[in-house]
Amino acid sequence: MYDTNNIFARILRGEIPCKKIARGDYFLSFNDINPKANVHAQVIPTGHYLNAHDFAQNASPEEQVGFLQGINETINILNLKENGYRLIMNTGINGRQEVQHLHMHILGGNDIGPMIAK
Ligand code: AMP
Repeated sequence: MYDTNNIFARILRGEIPCKKIARGDYFLSFNDINPKANVHAQVIPTGHYLNAHDFAQNASPEEQVGFLQGINETINILNLKENGYRLIMNTGINGRQEVQHLHMHILGGNDIGPMIAK
């Protein structure tokens, strides 16, 4: 089910470059290659997980906490706390998930607009 050749797995292995923001034992964060806001980052777990429910069911408590801490650390580094930001985790077909490795989008640096475009 998990394809080890997806683009984020390749970034984790160092096969493809990324603009790194931070790295910990259980997460890597980097700038999105096609930013949808002034600030657009991705935070990914270092383990191979497809989506949020795979991660919730199969990741260890250390991995889960480490991933959440990575999101927090990245938000701090990007200086987004004061004016806010949006977290998005697209999942599956209806969620239009393109990269099949769990990732949290962090969007900020400007007003992100309505939650869902009509
Ligand atoms: P999603 O639709 O939630 O799967 O979003 C995938 C995201 O990954 C998009 O915002 C892409 O711009 C981003 N992306 C794809 N390839 C790369 C890459 N090589 N480096 C950084 N971000 C990427």
